[in-house]
Amino acid sequence: MFWVDSVAAELKKRKLSLEWVDDMKTPSGRIHVGALRGVVVHDLVFKALKELGVKTKYTYIFDNHDPMDSLPVYLQKEKFEKYLGMPLFKIPSPAAGFSDYAQYYAKEFMEVFNKIGCHPEILWSTDLYKSGKMNPLIKECLDEASEIRKIYEDLYKKKIDKKWYPFQPYCPNCSKVSTTKVYNWDGEKVSFTCEIDAVVWTKGCGFKGKMSPFSNEKGIAGKLSWKVEWAAKWKVLGITVEGAGEDHMSKGGSHDLASLICERVINYPVPYPLPYAFFLIGGRKMSSSKGRGSSAPEMLEILPPEILRFLMVKTKVSQQINFDPSEDTVPKLFDDYQKAAEAYFEKKDENLARIFKLSQIDKVKKPPSIRFSVLAQWVQMPNMEKEIKKESLEEWESYAKIWVEKYAPNEIKFSIQEKIPEASKKLSQKQKEYLLKVSSFLDNNWDAEEFQKKLYEWAKEISLSPTEAFQALYVSLIGKDYGPKAAWLILKHKDFVKKRFLDAANS
Ligand SMILES: [Zn+2]
Repeated sequence: MFWVDSVAAELKKRKLSLEWVDDMKTPSGRIHVGALRGVVVHDLVFKALKELGVKTKYTYIFDNHDPMDSLPVYLQKEKFEKYLGMPLFKIPSPAAGFSDYAQYYAKEFMEVFNKIGCHPEILWSTDLYKSGKMNPLIKECLDEASEIRKIYEDLYKKKIDKKWYPFQPYCPNCSKVSTTKVYNWDGEKVSFTCEIDAVVWTKGCGFKGKMSPFSNEKGIAGKLSWKVEWAAKWKVLGITVEGAGEDHMSKGGSHDLASLICERVINYPVPYPLPYAFFLIGGRKMSSSKGRGSSAPEMLEILPPEILRFLMVKTKVSQQINFDPSEDTVPKLFDDYQKAAEAYFEKKDENLARIFKLSQIDKVKKPPSIRFSVLAQWVQMPNMEKEIKKESLEEWESYAKIWVEKYAPNEIKFSIQEKIPEASKKLSQKQKEYLLKVSSFLDNNWDAEEFQKKLYEWAKEISLSPTEAFQALYVSLIGKDYGPKAAWLILKHKDFVKKRFLDAANS
């Protein structure tokens, strides 16, 4: 049984009145493709539950109230540095048309996951706080601060300051949250300092004050420390299924801490966990702050939505995805997708057919049957529009072009040389003879498949090996020993080719 179906079947046995699947992310910049894996994993469970008739909902929380704790390299330092330490929703958007910084990056990410068929209900942490629903949990966690300190001490085996509280106010003076430290709670108000040297990457303002930690529709007072907050959110919303990347789910990680908060402080059953492994690009877990090449929107430039989704559906959750567009990963992925489609349409491999089905965006769509590697050749040849249309390759065409242009290994790239390539001087007498022979037949009306066969026959007739024969064709046209399917290349440019073969034969 496909893993998602096993999970759903297991969940069904719990007989809960509602399975609430949730995932979340801090939109601190362009979001890394790894976070997309979380969205898909949760989406799969949500959909499998629905198929089993279990009442379920799927939400995605954007933690827009978290602070900006580092500056992404693609942002202007002069413009954004001053916001370090401030909650994301209070920072201006890098582009016009968005209410704030968090919204800008959240919407960019949403657009990607919507395109790959995930449509969770979107929740914003600021709304959650403003609704007042977090207040009872904030009170409980402040009242139980000593127990929470003990949990940290037990888990991390280090002493926690008796004056530490799991809450950080938004400084009323400088708006920062990364720099504030609560040192007392009297049951109604927290006493805090905005410490100048609380963190190394930004400065606090030194403000000291006392304030209510509770939020309402007029404003947000502050936030719970995030691992504690994670558990609080589970309870406030009633979440029953939520996983996270393997970094959070490791032993002693943030998930362990949140689970202990559930058990020992807020009395709430820990949601069914779904740990998933990293999504690496070229073997690295690049953080989204490092810039281009690994963000979710960039992946959609390289892969069509259904194939990006397929990549995440087909890989076991416990297994890392290592995607390297500069190797043969892309053509192979397209091939695998076609194989999965075959399994589905020809009812062959049940598991693979299920993977194909779950990779579909809106409705089941049969992919083209031409291989990506062939398409990658076609897009480099002029006048192939008819063939591309005939094979319904229009949608894949742009991806093949991008792959050839940006990522394909050099041996894949070719173009017909305008001048006779230098290398054609090295052709043997036999090879020249072959070129003359081929050119003498070019005026006939050829079918490409038929012509391709003839190319072999003509070589045989003059006792030239196929390797040497095709080398002669490619060398004289594109200056390389190899190339795309020769018949198509030649027939597309008959007049040009004829002249070129004669020139090469006489060189
Ligand atoms: Zn301050």
